[in-house]
Amino acid sequence: MIQDLEYLVKLQEIDLRVREQESAKEQYPMAVADLEKRIEGARETGAAVGDRLAKLASEIEAADEQAAKLRESLNKSQERLSSIQTNREYDAVHKEIEAQKALLASAEGRKTALESDLEKGKTALVEAEKVYENAKAELQPQIDDLRAKIGKIDSVIAEIMAERAKISCNVSLPTMRTYDSIRKKKKSGRAVSLVNQDKTCGVCFMILQPQLCSEIRRGTKIILCENCGSMLIWDEAAGR
Ligand SMILES: [Zn+2]
Repeated sequence: MIQDLEYLVKLQEIDLRVREQESAKEQYPMAVADLEKRIEGARETGAAVGDRLAKLASEIEAADEQAAKLRESLNKSQERLSSIQTNREYDAVHKEIEAQKALLASAEGRKTALESDLEKGKTALVEAEKVYENAKAELQPQIDDLRAKIGKIDSVIAEIMAERAKISCNVSLPTMRTYDSIRKKKKSGRAVSLVNQDKTCGVCFMILQPQLCSEIRRGTKIILCENCGSMLIWDEAAGR
């Protein structure tokens, strides 16, 4: 029996390693997706700034065209002033000119404001591109590293399982069944509780009676913790 129990301690350690790999198998792809999302977010921010700049440029062009047209009609109106006969006509054209001047000033003002926005946008674009480049430089190696690990997980698990098979064939069938059934019920996957001089359950830390501890130390039968149901096994590494 005592040998069975020693093997169980090793099995426990192996099974916890398998669990660790299995949880990595679930979590690494999520971590990769998360990192990729951060890079994509930085790229999208840069692209949005780029789009805004393109829109500003076309708005500036439109304001420019409008100003050119206004300047042209203003010139025509001013030319007309020289050939005017009546005061009434003069007043009308003069009024027209004033209105055209106001529209021109407004178009030119809008163009100036848009140009200032464009300059600010260019600075924002440089900044956003820098953030994107930094995100790629920082996160891409992490993604590559996780991908490499994901690619190896199955073979790592297979290696650990081969190790497990070598150990488990030494354990008697009833002990193995008890171990497996407890392990599967435990959320932590921990079926074995190592007990040492502290005389407490290594899983739930319940204080164990001295007599029970002596029995655990003898290791002649399977003893379960009354509180948490773990298999109480004397920790040989901690000494007798
Ligand atoms: Zn316990």
